[in-house]
Amino acid sequence: MGFDTSGLLPLSDALQGMLEQLACCCDTEQLPLPEALGRILADDIASPLSVPPFDNSAMDGYAVRLADLAAGTPLIMAGKAFAGQPYQGEWPAGHCVRIMTGAPVPAGTDAVVMQEETRADGERITFLCQPVPGQNIRRAGSDMAKGACVLGAGTRLTPREMPLLASLGIATVSVRRPLRVAIFSTGDELKPVGTPLAHGDIYDSNRYGVKAMLARLGCDCLDLGIQPDNPDLLRAAFIRADQEADVLITTGGVSVGEADFTKQLLDELGEIGFWKLAIKPGKPFAFGRLPHAWFFGLPGNPVSAMVTFDQLVQPALAKLAGQRFERPLQLQAVAAEPLKKSPGRLDFQRGILCQGPSGLEVRSTGSQDSAVFSSLSRANCYIVLERERGRVAAGETVTVEPFGGLLL
Ligand code: AMP
Ligand code: MG
Repeated sequence: MGFDTSGLLPLSDALQGMLEQLACCCDTEQLPLPEALGRILADDIASPLSVPPFDNSAMDGYAVRLADLAAGTPLIMAGKAFAGQPYQGEWPAGHCVRIMTGAPVPAGTDAVVMQEETRADGERITFLCQPVPGQNIRRAGSDMAKGACVLGAGTRLTPREMPLLASLGIATVSVRRPLRVAIFSTGDELKPVGTPLAHGDIYDSNRYGVKAMLARLGCDCLDLGIQPDNPDLLRAAFIRADQEADVLITTGGVSVGEADFTKQLLDELGEIGFWKLAIKPGKPFAFGRLPHAWFFGLPGNPVSAMVTFDQLVQPALAKLAGQRFERPLQLQAVAAEPLKKSPGRLDFQRGILCQGPSGLEVRSTGSQDSAVFSSLSRANCYIVLERERGRVAAGETVTVEPFGGLLL
């Protein structure tokens, strides 16, 4: 596929190489608003109305005209305006209107004076402060103007978007169908949880991690279980995944010891590149195309599998699903202790970020071996150490990336 597999491939090149080839493959469907949570908007949403729809009061107080206040004498209350019950009576000179938060301001209102800045003596209201024009009035369209684009296509609908769409009166939204992702783990040593282990066996942990991350991304998952290192069974699993899903993600079987075997099979079925990425953890990685589905082959080591999924597969799946993707924020923090690092690869070390007395501080979670899963579980961030950087001394500034929604 034209990828350089001779040396170590920088993460950014790998990502760019993949994203260039991928396009959204998910059709659209119409869903009632409550069912669209977690889905991706297929179209821009233009506001069908102004929000708020009318000028209204931001306070409980009195609607006034500045000309009436000029005399400096108390104003007489002409009536009351409540949310949902506008004041519809006359508003003679020298009068004010009692108004509650959210009530439409009567025509001619210059300002709303909050109750605390007035003194009431029966119907006679004394104003203790001089209001400025427009004070405490929420103008029609000041939140969202009619016709303005309020959410772009590709936005994932979170609990933050639901009330916004409801405020616009939108009952049905056009969203992408979920991406269908088939997964399996490879390895003769792997056993599913709930079964006993023989000597030499380990539990298949990757599939549970990958499945959980796919759930966070809103993908439909087709779980093809554990596939032994057997060419015929593997071929059948590849073919089934290709027929039933948009994407296949496997873990294991892409490192040097096994790549030749998996490679043979994948070369027979599709066009797959095997990469050695210049990142740690997660060096071996495979990407390519089966006849119908895209293929991502993650390394077998559990931490490598999670990190490559997060850093590489997540943005690729977003593009296939039609989602606009933004990487989580990166911050600067002070290393509270020395960090081991050799130049040559971009490190995603697992760290614990906290607020120290003079700013953000980060510590390592301990062993950074890619087989040590507890290092990921205890972490709340990556410590991102540049490719050419060596050992980090305590007190040096480092880049940290707090875990995003995928890992929380
Ligand atoms: P591989 O990439 O298949 O050579 O595997 C590298 C290491 O990761 C080996 O120690 C495997 O036993 C381990 N491994 C592979 N797949 C899994 C899995 N699904 N769950 C836990 N460990 C795995
Ligand atoms: Mg293996």
